[in-house]
Amino acid sequence: MKWSTNGSLSPAARLRRRVDAWAVKLRVMPRAVRVQRMTRKWGSCSTAGTITLAIDLDDQSEGFQDFVIVHELLHLKVPNHGRLFKALMTAHVPKWRALDAARRGARDVSPPAALRAAGRR
Ligand SMILES: [Zn+2]
Repeated sequence: MKWSTNGSLSPAARLRRRVDAWAVKLRVMPRAVRVQRMTRKWGSCSTAGTITLAIDLDDQSEGFQDFVIVHELLHLKVPNHGRLFKALMTAHVPKWRALDAARRGARDVSPPAALRAAGRR
């Protein structure tokens, strides 16, 4: 467990650290990272570049956390779920399809409606 030595950090701080590490790796720069209570989604990415994550994502497995974080960060590069998006997901989170299936029927991970409405899908 990578984060066990950081047990004193709050859930939000732990998630932000994880986002920071992935942002460096993926070479993206979110304008802001918010961690808050969310009930319908695990995360979202706004057109303005703000990443929002559900605070209870911290309770999920590290693999699932990475899946959600990478998914949202990749939207800073690719606004849709097309072929390029899927190829990048596979490159960084090889088991993402299984993780995606596992969360289906529960909460969604997707770009906000505004992004789709802008016709960038
Ligand atoms: Zn998405």
